[in-house]
Amino acid sequence: MIMETNTLTLQDKIISLKQEKKAVILSHNYQIPQIQDIADFVGDSLELSKKSRDADCRVIAFCGVQFMAETAKILSPMRKVLLPVKEAGCPLAEMITAKDLIELKNKHPDAWVVCYVNTTAEIKALSDVCCTSANAVTVVKNIPVKKVIFVPDKNLGWWVQRNIPEKEIISWPGFCFVHENFSLSDLELARKFYPEAEVISHPECPREVLLRSDFVLSTSGMLKRAKKSDAKRFIIATEEGLIYRLKKENPAKEFYSLGSAKICLSMKRTGLDDLYLALEKEDCQVELAPEIIKKARIALERMVQFT
Ligand code: SF4
Repeated sequence: MIMETNTLTLQDKIISLKQEKKAVILSHNYQIPQIQDIADFVGDSLELSKKSRDADCRVIAFCGVQFMAETAKILSPMRKVLLPVKEAGCPLAEMITAKDLIELKNKHPDAWVVCYVNTTAEIKALSDVCCTSANAVTVVKNIPVKKVIFVPDKNLGWWVQRNIPEKEIISWPGFCFVHENFSLSDLELARKFYPEAEVISHPECPREVLLRSDFVLSTSGMLKRAKKSDAKRFIIATEEGLIYRLKKENPAKEFYSLGSAKICLSMKRTGLDDLYLALEKEDCQVELAPEIIKKARIALERMVQFT
């Protein structure tokens, strides 16, 4: 535990260390409020990838999970990328291995592999193109092949297939255990008690939830919709960290998690203490083999080309 002195709070110490180390702090939308509040930028995977690539800094302190910090390293190999809690993994990303993907590719040699950004660097290096939940439909629509291996999220894969019936999508059966827990019965209950509310779901939710939602959007899409909409009340089906940002940016509107709040423990592992120690010691660097960086970068750059 880092002790606060009478004059300097832990937040003050982090800010002064950040300046001294020429660092930028990035936070995913699902991080705890204290981390979101101190970050230079808060966003979804795509927004944070762009910030990593364009940041004018020596160090990137990435408050999120492993695949996100790896993506930052792939896009900014010359910078030091720190993941304050090195063990913070994403169970969804870990649901497919390189061996699984190689076998699938051998079975469908005429297909392109589209990987969701929620994958390890190794999986990205074996993929033709990467996508995020914000641009998955556009990327798959624009690539020049009919047959697509989509990894690792089955619900996002199903959503892409529903929006592009002319393509053949072979989805890996992975899922996010946080989003998989949103249920149709909770949605029907919410509709009964709050018929005027807008229901917005993340495409990692089960298909029956997606079909009954008013909008299916990425977290950045949810933030834009909440601002633009005339509705006063929203039922949100994504990790509860986003509710904090939705409320902060729209104080006159009401936001509720669909059913009970769903929490990703990996996303909540990073505290201010961890961030301070990461900046001070710089000992939690993300390291990737140059060959993996080179190949994975092609998949990430193609994502921009096809959106
Ligand atoms: S919310 Fe789901 S997809 Fe996101 S980091 Fe947690 S487990 Fe992974």
